[in-house]
Amino acid sequence: MSLKEDDFADWYLDVVEKAGMSDKRYPIKGMNVWTPYGWKVMRFIDAYIRQEFDATGHDEVCFPLMIPETEFAKEKDHIKGFDEEVYWVTHAGLNELDVRLVVRPTSETAMYPMFSLWVRSHQDLPLKTYQIVNTFRYETKQTRPFIRVREIHFFESHTCHVSEEDAQCQVEEDIQILERIAKQICLPYTLLVRTEWDKFPGAHYTVGIDTSMPNGRTLQMGSIHHYRTNFSIPYNITYEDENGEHKYVHQTTFGMSERLVGALIGVHGDDKGLVMPPGIAPYQVVIIPILSKKSADEVSAAAKALGDQLSAGGIRVKLDDRDDRPGSKYYDWEIKGVPLRLELGARDIENKVVSFARRDNAEKGTIAISDVVPGVKMLLDVISEEMLARAEEVQRSRIQDVDSVENLPQDKILRFGWCGSDECGHKFEDEQGFKILGTPYRPEPYSGKCIICGKPVDRPAYAAHTM
Ligand code: ZN
Repeated sequence: MSLKEDDFADWYLDVVEKAGMSDKRYPIKGMNVWTPYGWKVMRFIDAYIRQEFDATGHDEVCFPLMIPETEFAKEKDHIKGFDEEVYWVTHAGLNELDVRLVVRPTSETAMYPMFSLWVRSHQDLPLKTYQIVNTFRYETKQTRPFIRVREIHFFESHTCHVSEEDAQCQVEEDIQILERIAKQICLPYTLLVRTEWDKFPGAHYTVGIDTSMPNGRTLQMGSIHHYRTNFSIPYNITYEDENGEHKYVHQTTFGMSERLVGALIGVHGDDKGLVMPPGIAPYQVVIIPILSKKSADEVSAAAKALGDQLSAGGIRVKLDDRDDRPGSKYYDWEIKGVPLRLELGARDIENKVVSFARRDNAEKGTIAISDVVPGVKMLLDVISEEMLARAEEVQRSRIQDVDSVENLPQDKILRFGWCGSDECGHKFEDEQGFKILGTPYRPEPYSGKCIICGKPVDRPAYAAHTM
């Protein structure tokens, strides 16, 4: 295995392959195969996302993959933003199509013609929907599993509201949902309002959700958009209010993708492989029986009973009873990042305990068999909390305040004054090669000067090199 510190890009590809997360040898570049272990991880993340959105009154839908060009072109900023990166379907059988079809890059233009039929009165609002589907974008930069792909496993929520304020409340709810999902995956993140030139095509504003990767670059894991009426006007999504007046709805979206998987690999992994957050680990615990000739039957039976007991207690457990040396089993499960390894041998049984080893910090100890379900649950909770705390600490340490463009550190997230003008923003990006990620969604105390023009400012901007 490559070393994470030495060459993050090589390490990342190595660990993705060795852990069985994805196979990039499919004969279309950037369209990778979800192999069983990777797909299990994605399914646990999806399940958690579904649980969160169902619990907050969103309904799951599933829209067609193709969108007629006539609908796709209705919002002019939107089509300008996506024109160069969409796949087109031009033929059906032997016939050239009159109206070309877009393979969805995102679903605004698929959903909104239907929303205009579904929304009639204020009683139909808010309309809160989401779907988990694949989207397609023709990436021209170098592809990388989960991080930059052309077929993207994607989550998107789309909502309609009676007013701008109501849509703003939805943004706040999305942020609370994000907080819970990120906690489950132990991922720290920043919420930054993107620059005007970097916001989603057609949005009123965009909040980018970024995390910081070990090579000092940031990875956008998702985004939340407030559209105001920018889409409801071209798509004619109106409702009749209590006074019989027709009004345009205000809309929001929240999108995240398989980049969450790329983020968890990069943020938590180490030189031995993946380190899975317990909340979404396909196997939270692996049991390795330590067999000797004398005790083989007794230990095997006890290991199976232990597995059944944990499983009945709601813990995702794998009993590795392959005919192989324990050391080689340790190695396999370390690559896959199983949070907790339990070892059970004759001496453990005699002492009425099971030995454990944590994947995240190599700590070892024993748990009383009589107390094993609550004991394991408590350990998994501790692992989860400590993984998040460590990742947050690392992220904080990567943010650096700067007040001049001299000798900017290349592997940090820069925090600095920016007056907010396009001119200063573009000058900074063009001359320094950093991307401005935006300004804090939640105001933070700051006083400084614009790093370009020197004008006094009371809020910072953040910039970084991005993945
Ligand atoms: Zn300025």
